[in-house]
Amino acid sequence: MPMKWNRYPSDWKQISERIQRRDGFRCRYCDAPNGQEIYRYPNSRRWSYTPEGSEWRRVRIVTMVHHIGINKPDGMPGNPDDKMDCREANLVTLCQYCHLTEERLIRSKRKGEKTDTKNEQLELL
Ligand SMILES: [Zn+2]
Repeated sequence: MPMKWNRYPSDWKQISERIQRRDGFRCRYCDAPNGQEIYRYPNSRRWSYTPEGSEWRRVRIVTMVHHIGINKPDGMPGNPDDKMDCREANLVTLCQYCHLTEERLIRSKRKGEKTDTKNEQLELL
């Protein structure tokens, strides 16, 4: 998905670096380390430095900062598309796989195709 930089704060680069440093430059969901080559079992969060089967695919981890869309301070629902909401608790470092999965969940939830996203997410673990 192309980045729409005009929807991000002008200091997004600094914010993103700060959050990734906070999270130790690792994916908070699957613990994959930024910049390293790992092997991942397809469509799962499982990864290893050595392949554990022929299906395992080598990937280079690129972490990025994801907007969770937590509730607003006044209790109103947050919005993952609100890229200006840069509260620390709203931001999380994710690898490309977990980020893609999150974005898919958000989109399918929005389309109303899947209401049971919590269970779907658990299956991926
Ligand atoms: Zn991950």
